Amino acid sequence: MSDENLAKLRLECEKCTKCELCKTRKNSVFGDGNPKAKIFFIGEAPGAREDALGKTFVGRSGKFLDEMLASVNLKRADVFIGNVLKCRPPDNRDPHPDEIEKCLPFLQTQIRAVAPKLIVTLGRFSMNLFLPDAKISQIHGQIQTVDGWKVLPLFHPAAALFDGSKREVLKNDFQILRKFL
Ligand code: URA
Repeated sequence: MSDENLAKLRLECEKCTKCELCKTRKNSVFGDGNPKAKIFFIGEAPGAREDALGKTFVGRSGKFLDEMLASVNLKRADVFIGNVLKCRPPDNRDPHPDEIEKCLPFLQTQIRAVAPKLIVTLGRFSMNLFLPDAKISQIHGQIQTVDGWKVLPLFHPAAALFDGSKREVLKNDFQILRKFL
């Protein structure tokens, strides 16, 4: 898929009304970064700041994600970052299954367009798209192969900010990315 088609998909996403979240969003958050990235990160859903600005990971978790990217000599512009849901769930509640199902075609098309060497899932919602029965505490930091894609499940940066013991685990797991640069 060309960059132009990815741009068209972004416009479609901005106008999307497939689920109720379109009624409460300020902006849809399509995803940002290098359309030819080797590494594609998938978070959960936009938070308040992402909703306000229309960009992924611009709050506290984003700052932490930037620090981890820097620890492996990466910048935002080197990678692609998207989310399971493109619109903010009210009060940052968990995504509902029907919202995930309706939003998934955007992500699937993005992944095929970018065709990364590695998909990094941040948190359980994005991991469960590839590995529905997996427990993140058991497989974080271990590369899995799913439908021909290499998938690395990591803890979500927000979970790591909340729980100090996960912070060190996440920082260590992140070093695996060096192999893909
Ligand atoms: N958390 C996410 O999962 N995604 C964002 O874009 C921001 C915070």
